[in-house]
Amino acid sequence: MTATARADRLAQRLQELCRDVRRDEPLRRHTTFRIGGPADVLVVPRSTEELRAVARWLYTSGEPFVVLGRGSNVLISDRGVRGVVVKVGGALDRVRWDGARVVAEAGAGLPRLSLRAGRRGLAGLEFAAGIPGSVGGGVAMNAGAHGHSLQEVVRRVHVVTPHGDRAWRADEMGFGYRTSRLHHEAAVVVEVEMELEPAASEEVLDRTTRWLQHRGATQPVRLPSSGCVFRNPPGDAAGRLVELAGAKGLREGGVEVSTLHGNYVVNTGGGRAEDVLRLVDRVREHVRRAFGVELELEVQLVGEF
Ligand SMILES: Cc1cc2nc3c(=O)[nH]c(=O)nc-3n(C[C@H](O)[C@H](O)[C@H](O)COP(=O)(O)OP(=O)(O)OC[C@H]3O[C@@H](n4cnc5c(N)ncnc54)[C@H](O)[C@@H]3O)c2cc1C
Repeated sequence: MTATARADRLAQRLQELCRDVRRDEPLRRHTTFRIGGPADVLVVPRSTEELRAVARWLYTSGEPFVVLGRGSNVLISDRGVRGVVVKVGGALDRVRWDGARVVAEAGAGLPRLSLRAGRRGLAGLEFAAGIPGSVGGGVAMNAGAHGHSLQEVVRRVHVVTPHGDRAWRADEMGFGYRTSRLHHEAAVVVEVEMELEPAASEEVLDRTTRWLQHRGATQPVRLPSSGCVFRNPPGDAAGRLVELAGAKGLREGGVEVSTLHGNYVVNTGGGRAEDVLRLVDRVREHVRRAFGVELELEVQLVGEF
């Protein structure tokens, strides 16, 4: 069977489980970097039931697939992704509030969830107001800022795994600096339970606003990017090393090391994944020569590189 016929058949089978299945969908439309070639098959579940059905079928059939949230921490190759991509997007954004306990669907956006919690007088998610990811992607990455991260508020994570549906407690999540067990174990996050702290709403929103303002002044939040490209080395900030090594403003094709924040690569127009990788190599070389430090990628590479 040709690759096209195989992908057609896969798409047809998935359409029985989910209404929104697209062939050859450009993934740049689904990433904050605005970079990424086509997915053979993109599946966009409209409910947790559809997501569960799709994930169970994919695991049972042994068909490899990639999960995407808001695409804010990925660099997708220019050749795209062969096979299936499951997008856990804004259609899965329902949130149940029960006192300080919150249950959010995996596609819920972190900024809106943070603001809604603040308005309800619930503290603990202020740091997430400027992180443009989903709850599922946030848990996978243990997203954080301002000295806080999701592991502080997450209590239980409902996932579909190749072995069935599971509810993992926070202490089973393998949370660490921008990592979790989802980095080395197959699982799709469907829902996340969190426990927040009752607090005065004005105080929570005031803290949120101050942190957002600081972010707006120090990070290129209006240009397409995937946030910080490099993990911070122990005890230091990657952005500081990039700046001191003189790599701010370096360019390759349509991408540039932000002149505002050294750990951001921004797409200034028509940027490609190969431009980003070339630029990343140059920046690493600058930092290696200046400080002997090997910077590691925080952004996740997805697809055929
Ligand atoms: C302007 C900007 C600012 C940012 N600031 C920060 C910051 O301050 N702190 C920070 O930590 N990050 C930051 N980021 C990076 C990014 O927003 C976070 O890592 C975010 O949590 C990623 O969520 P996402 O839904 O976009 O995940 P994606 O980028 O779509 O995916 C990231 C990883 O999570 C996995 N994944 C996604 N959804 C699921 C799911 N439902 N089940 C299983 N796995 C899943 C993917 O397979 C992938 O491996 C920033 C990004 C941008 C563009």
